[in-house]
Amino acid sequence: MEDINVFLAHAIELEREAARRYEELADSMRTTENTEVEKFFRKMAMFSRKHLALAVERSGFHDLPAMSADQYQWPDGISPEQFDWIGVDSMIDATYALELALDGERRGHAFYADIAATTRDPEVRVMAREFAEEEAEHVAELDKWIGRYANKTKQPQLNPHY
Ligand code: ZN
Repeated sequence: MEDINVFLAHAIELEREAARRYEELADSMRTTENTEVEKFFRKMAMFSRKHLALAVERSGFHDLPAMSADQYQWPDGISPEQFDWIGVDSMIDATYALELALDGERRGHAFYADIAATTRDPEVRVMAREFAEEEAEHVAELDKWIGRYANKTKQPQLNPHY
């Protein structure tokens, strides 16, 4: 990706989608009354919104191209629209919700890291690297939470199937 405007358009779409995902995950935690994880997801949604605002602000110096869905250049499996939503509407447990979130963060990280590694445009490279670093922090944070929850729910799971 060689065009800063195209990069920013992707970043905006990716962060917007991430914020939405976190808000939905937070809502699903509210249904299960897991306030701890709900709060964490709300915080992550806020980070995504901040990231989104940053991308919008950076793009303020440029003309952001109006892009139609087929103009986005998402690498395979990273397109935010392809995110696997199965189960989010229903009751999901915290570990599964955290894993869904981790999956999203990994995709985001892979997307930015790949651009940082392959672009020849120095401006795109700097920003992609910056965004990739932030996504790496999110991945680490999710890993921590998943570790915490894996320990909490170690007792054998009798399948509570409704
Ligand atoms: Zn993130």
